[in-house]
Amino acid sequence: MSFREFIDRLKENGKLVEVQKAVSPKFEASRIAKQTKAPVLFHDISGSKVIMNLLGSREELAAMLKVPKEEIISKLSAVSPEGEVRLVSDSPTLEVVEDEVDLTKLPILTHFEKDGAPYLTAGIVVSEYGGTVNASIHRLMLLGKDRLAARLVPPRHTYLLHRKAAEKGEPLPVAIVLGCDPTIIYATSTRVPVGKEFEYAAALRGGPIELFECENGVKVPHSEIVLEGYIEPWERADEGPFVDITGTYDHVRKEPVIRITRVLHRKDPIYHGILPAGPEHLLMMGVPYEPRIFRAVGEVTTVRNVVLTEGGCCYLHAVVQIEKQTEGDGKNAIMAAFAAHTSLKHVVVVDEDIDIFDPNDVEFAIATRVKGDTDLMIIPNVRGSSLDPRGAPDGTTTKIGIDATKVLVEKENFERAEIPE
Ligand code: MN
Repeated sequence: MSFREFIDRLKENGKLVEVQKAVSPKFEASRIAKQTKAPVLFHDISGSKVIMNLLGSREELAAMLKVPKEEIISKLSAVSPEGEVRLVSDSPTLEVVEDEVDLTKLPILTHFEKDGAPYLTAGIVVSEYGGTVNASIHRLMLLGKDRLAARLVPPRHTYLLHRKAAEKGEPLPVAIVLGCDPTIIYATSTRVPVGKEFEYAAALRGGPIELFECENGVKVPHSEIVLEGYIEPWERADEGPFVDITGTYDHVRKEPVIRITRVLHRKDPIYHGILPAGPEHLLMMGVPYEPRIFRAVGEVTTVRNVVLTEGGCCYLHAVVQIEKQTEGDGKNAIMAAFAAHTSLKHVVVVDEDIDIFDPNDVEFAIATRVKGDTDLMIIPNVRGSSLDPRGAPDGTTTKIGIDATKVLVEKENFERAEIPE
């Protein structure tokens, strides 16, 4: 499904909010997106179309994957990155080709009060070096007409490819993709084996992914907009402040600079913007970790489901549902979850009768099945998330696991009363 077809389907299902009036790219668009929460299509941001909150709910994600909401994780866990990728020679993306680069003509948004500059937030950076390909979303700060600063997090794949090229004094060819098949957007947010993002997307969508080649050799999927360029080997610029998943400001760092050499786009392109700390950002950051936790817990006990909760920024808090087999399973599940997602800070393990999508039900489990001296695991001085404002400067934190499962031998004490039909 193309980006446009996905938006059309949202519209047909009555899920799309449309804003016809002119909206400012500075603060106004992000304010409206934050209030609306639903997918919102702006028809006039500096004369351009912009979509926000595109994949902002588990319902949308489930619809994209063609499964019920409860089965997202088992579907994602079952798919291996081995779909078909085809190279094609033409693309609707080539409808307009601009050699005279001016990024300020794009409706790049400024989201929050203290942001360092306007930021591209939904750009998939596809890079290729020495036969290795990578595709992942990076926040990209607008520096000028043809320059962006890219936050490359070590030791992720783009960071490694850039370092490899820089060691030889070579620029890293990249193409920044905006607005492609949402399955691809989702796949590139997932940690898959090196170079397998498009194969994973093809497997998820259940059909081949077509790529076409840019002038610099990088192969990209059909999309609304593509920015071709190079990450400079040594040049650095101040990047930040920028709001990340916790909704707090991430600080300024010296980050690599991308020089854009060519812009390709469809006629009347739809620009994709992700609201930092908004529902789409949280889901894209968090949901890809759920299958990893699911698989890891599945190695130690019978796992039923996993959710990274919204209140925990879809990143720092997990609820893991197990079918407890033996006493101690809850603790093993806690250790497996922490090992699978190193940024995870607090995890609650519950039984199969708890609705993990309902925070009240999870709290009920904590209220009625936890005894503080035996059911908590406190693990100090372990690596946490660089995005946690409460983390130590050296990147460590304290993790807490809560075993909110029933004590097996006293099972009947925990029975939830039911009224017969
Ligand atoms: Mn990768």
